[in-house]
Amino acid sequence: MKSKEIRAKFLDFFKSKEHSIVPSAPIVLKNDPTLMFTNAGMNQFKEYFLGNAKPKTTRIADTQKCLRVSGKHNDLEEVGKDTYHHTMFEMLGNWSIGDYFKKEAINWAWEFLTAELKIDKNNLYVTVFEGDQTDKLSKDEEAYEIWKKIIDEDRILLGNKKDNFWEMGDQGPCGPASEIHVDIRSEEEKAKVPGKDLVNQDHPQVVEIWNLVFIQYNRMANGSLKELPAKHIDTGMGFERLAMVMQGKQSNYDTDVFQPLISEIETITGVSYGKNEQTDIAIRVIADHVRAVSFAIADGQLPSNNGAGYVIRRILRRAIRYGFTFLNKKEAFIHQLVAVLATQMGGAFPELKKQKNLCENVIKEEEKSFLRTLDQGLSLLDNIIASAEGNEISGRKAFELYDTYGFPIDLTALILSEKNYTLDLKAFEEELEKQKNRSRLAAQTETEDWVVLQEDEEEEFVGYDYLEAQVKITQYRKLVTKKDGALYQLVFNLTPFYPEGGGQVGDKGYLKSANGDITYIIDTKKENNLIIHTTKTLPQDIKQTFMAVVDAKQRNRSAANHSATHLLHQALRNILGTHVEQKGSMVHSGYLRFDFSHFNKLTAEELKEVENFVNARIREQLDLEENRTMLYTKAIEEGAVALFGEKYGDTVRTIRFGKSMELCGGTHVANTADIWHFKITAEAAVASGIRRIEAITGDAAKDLLTEQSTQMQQIKHLLNNTKDPIKSVTDIQNENSELRKEIEALKREKASFLKAELKAAVQEQNGVNYLIQQVDLDANGMKDVAFQLGGELGNLFLVFGAEQDGKALLTCYISKSLVEEKDLNAGKIVRALGKHIQGGGGGQAFFATAGGKNPSGISAALEEAKTFLD
Ligand code: ATP
Ligand code: MG
Repeated sequence: MKSKEIRAKFLDFFKSKEHSIVPSAPIVLKNDPTLMFTNAGMNQFKEYFLGNAKPKTTRIADTQKCLRVSGKHNDLEEVGKDTYHHTMFEMLGNWSIGDYFKKEAINWAWEFLTAELKIDKNNLYVTVFEGDQTDKLSKDEEAYEIWKKIIDEDRILLGNKKDNFWEMGDQGPCGPASEIHVDIRSEEEKAKVPGKDLVNQDHPQVVEIWNLVFIQYNRMANGSLKELPAKHIDTGMGFERLAMVMQGKQSNYDTDVFQPLISEIETITGVSYGKNEQTDIAIRVIADHVRAVSFAIADGQLPSNNGAGYVIRRILRRAIRYGFTFLNKKEAFIHQLVAVLATQMGGAFPELKKQKNLCENVIKEEEKSFLRTLDQGLSLLDNIIASAEGNEISGRKAFELYDTYGFPIDLTALILSEKNYTLDLKAFEEELEKQKNRSRLAAQTETEDWVVLQEDEEEEFVGYDYLEAQVKITQYRKLVTKKDGALYQLVFNLTPFYPEGGGQVGDKGYLKSANGDITYIIDTKKENNLIIHTTKTLPQDIKQTFMAVVDAKQRNRSAANHSATHLLHQALRNILGTHVEQKGSMVHSGYLRFDFSHFNKLTAEELKEVENFVNARIREQLDLEENRTMLYTKAIEEGAVALFGEKYGDTVRTIRFGKSMELCGGTHVANTADIWHFKITAEAAVASGIRRIEAITGDAAKDLLTEQSTQMQQIKHLLNNTKDPIKSVTDIQNENSELRKEIEALKREKASFLKAELKAAVQEQNGVNYLIQQVDLDANGMKDVAFQLGGELGNLFLVFGAEQDGKALLTCYISKSLVEEKDLNAGKIVRALGKHIQGGGGGQAFFATAGGKNPSGISAALEEAKTFLD
């Protein structure tokens, strides 16, 4: 069965059980401070489990793109080495939000696998949670009893907390789980060792395919468990593993999910898969990683130097290095695999097709730059080896290579072992640990549990219409961070505060109590559908009603910048073309930043045109047309611009100014005239094929104008109040260049005078023409004269001393004939003379110079110079 059919069968099966089928959420999480990437199907439904939001339907199913490369679920190091863990994989899942529970979840999973897909029951094993003393939980009898009705008891195994209690993170919803494992070994092997002995033993052919989680608890900050008011089902099945079972293969990589990529790698590198364990690992790593990186880029996460971008960069670098070391590919090639991936997966994930060019370009640039780093690292490593005493390279040196140049430690170890050197790996690991501790300490945050003051269905956002509102605090928690000390996070029954999102920063402002006490709100963010206001102190009498007041000035400036961003986007698509897509934005009260796909640097004319376009829309005084409840499909039909990697619901908010229409949750000006003026301040590349424009509006543009006009006044004043400063500056520049020419001519004249004088001063001793003298020339002057005299006289031994700008200079010239005959060496001579002027120098045997900080030593140096004649 083709993998495509398997995916479709799963979704159809749960549709028949009245589940709504939803699209995969983006793989990159934008508004969740606790998680960088989607690591399980349940992530996008977390707010439902926590009760912060209500789902439209209580039964949901989907296939979710997941990435397990950081945090609690990190499989990166396994990937490629084994045959069934990936960085990016699809998780098929079905959910019940307070609807059905264990009985249906278990029976349906069984029905799907054995009746629908016809997997042999004799190859399946299931596990049930055995209970845990520290958590005071007993065995999951309920699940055990349900399974007992379906399969033989000797196929039901008990599992411990590690395998059979699922938790998303350190805190949050969790519960006991029942896993389904499949044994795909040959009959012969099965006869030797029974499958049930291999369940959860990391055997590559006895693997877990489906995990059914029964969400019943919330893990609190102090580690205790609290029973949830409603019980939920959360299941996840590995799509690639299921494909392996259905296609009768022994490895995920042998399925049609990976084969096209692998055969392309074979073609490009000329290395065949299945011949050698080391090259096989490399091929698997590359086939896997190109998927992770492409999916992330397609969802808007470019490789970068920090956060999620850095994780993506590291994954790609791991692939490049495996190719470099084991497949002997020294040029960029991984980007060539994107086309294969887009063809194969573009049906289920159209973003891959749409973003194919961008993925290719970004990956190619990353490859090239990391290959350069590897090259540099190799020569640095050569230096380290050359200067090593003994045969061991210190851990600190290897760490430096790793930390400063991104040179991978296992590559260092490999190269060293090839050259019969060893590496002090223990010392390296100590350095690494030290660094980790440093950043861990810096980032440490302790979050206490929420204290609920008042039950509340939903925290309503009223900030589109109001900048002030009467609010009550419904819950709060304390957190202690290493950076800022103690902070409080407050949730209200309703709020006018805009939470950071869609590139726009969160509102600041304050809470005012009835008696006039003020508590400042320093930031607003959204987490699991809650709008969270951060303060440094807790207001007194937290149960009273407060006036929540948004800092209007900052909000209005942010709004102007946000609306200007939309106009900028429109301008770029109009002027450069519709290939321009937003790739990130940052809307601050002070400025705006907009990243977009485009391949060339913008010319000065294009920038001017963009500015003019936006300013024309501002002058048109376009009213804001906002629709908060438009059907997504209708909005797209009307031409609204939606962003890749953004999760949209069925109804969306649209923002329209004239012909600019975007799906957007941000705050905006009521009329484009409120933007006042738009001014681009910078344009640069952020990655291959991605440009960034920075701009200012309103007050910031006014401030810039004021500053520039003040500067202009000062410049005019300096130019004797000229009417035409450009002409005045050009005149000065011309005059300056004339003067410079005159000075050069005068200098040359002076030098030729001097040369004549000096030539007359040359003396002779034993057939050697010599001149040892202090002169008034700079370094170039001395050199010129020395070479001219040398050419005219022959057999010349010349030493000049000069004082220039309080420093001492020495120049020594020796005709080549003398260098050979008398074994004289100008380099050695200036080095010897250098001590008199407290300096040093060097050069060649026939010409050398020295410099020093003691001009009073020049005469002593010249005295000593004479001794070389004897
Ligand atoms: P394992 O023990 O094999 O690592 P897990 O316990 O981490 O699996 P879950 O978190 O329960 O897995 O995820 C649900 C399902 O997703 C698993 O049953 C498995 O089929 C699949 N899965 C988990 N991790 C990966 C991965 N890194 N690559 C491919 N599939 C995975
Ligand atoms: Mg795992």
